[in-house]
Amino acid sequence: MTQTAHGVEFSRQLSANPKSAEERAAILANPGFGNHFTDHTAIVDYSVDENGKGGWHNPRVEAYGPISLDPSAAVLHYGQEIFEGLKAYRHADGSVWTFRPEANAARLNKSARRLALPELPAEYFLGAIRELVTVDKEWVPDGDGESLYLRPFMIATEAFLGVRAAREVSFRVIASPAGNYFGGELKPVSIWISREYARAGRGGTGAAKCGGNYAASLIAQQEAEANGCKQVLFLDQFNDNAVEELGGMNVFFVMKDGSLATPALTGTILEGVTRMSVIQVAKDMGREVAERKITLDEWRDGVASGEITEVFACGTAAVITPIGVLKDATEFIGSEDAKAGETTMAIRERLLGIQTGTSPDTHGWLTRL
Ligand code: PMP
Repeated sequence: MTQTAHGVEFSRQLSANPKSAEERAAILANPGFGNHFTDHTAIVDYSVDENGKGGWHNPRVEAYGPISLDPSAAVLHYGQEIFEGLKAYRHADGSVWTFRPEANAARLNKSARRLALPELPAEYFLGAIRELVTVDKEWVPDGDGESLYLRPFMIATEAFLGVRAAREVSFRVIASPAGNYFGGELKPVSIWISREYARAGRGGTGAAKCGGNYAASLIAQQEAEANGCKQVLFLDQFNDNAVEELGGMNVFFVMKDGSLATPALTGTILEGVTRMSVIQVAKDMGREVAERKITLDEWRDGVASGEITEVFACGTAAVITPIGVLKDATEFIGSEDAKAGETTMAIRERLLGIQTGTSPDTHGWLTRL
């Protein structure tokens, strides 16, 4: 048994067959994204007792491996599932840190409320991450731009086919060593406009991080890839084609006067932890940041007139990525040989500097694991 700094005790049943140091080194030499997993997983279970009282119990670390689920488990039928994504970074002195985990814990609970899943006390969220990273510390890469991607998720495990909120739930964290999300050097990416498919609608689950949103976005992502684009842009067709977000990232615009603009949180887009950090970092750099409605017309006209000088996407996996081109059958905005903009790069450097320990953490965003 281990007492974590967050006060939750996780029991440990360590893997009988962890990867050898050689196997691990081979994986860490070229981790890619989402391909390989560490030797362990952290788990906390939830159930509702006969008096209707729910509680979290049995926090533990076990060997990574398949989950045994009843075929009638609610998650398999009604998609009652939510998840998070954050990273652990190895600093030059070997210490391992994570970035704003309390923001991910809060967003998980926001998602939980929307999906009628139980909220998880933050000490379990942070405790699970700390325990897993402590046990699998050797898996945190130290290369430039590399990190250990952490994937907390919560699933409805109750064996019951009635349509209601499940009374048995499991929270887990898995970890995957990660290189550069888009691979190779930082080049501006091309983005495809999704006209036919929406990711979210008013009153729906767009502001929650639930698996169903991503399932619904895959057909648009396939269309994007078939047209040579890395990601898809979703618009609100019922609101003047207001820009929402990409399949897995938020969007920012840099204006001629040096200010920034990003779509306001309307309930249909995900509030990215990177988005909130970019807003703060830009303000620290003396920039004004507007959270407002930005339409496709403004994007097109602004790039043409020079009012918009840079566009970039941001999220945990890719950090900050310049957008070179936005297109579909009828639009072509930007240029194939666009270079990463100065403001985009300055914000990226500042944010990466904080995460990797080379710039001062003035906002107290880092937690040591
Ligand atoms: N939007 C969507 C739809 C996402 O999946 C993500 C990735 N979690 C983001 C935005 C960016 O969020 P974050 O900065 O917290 O990674």
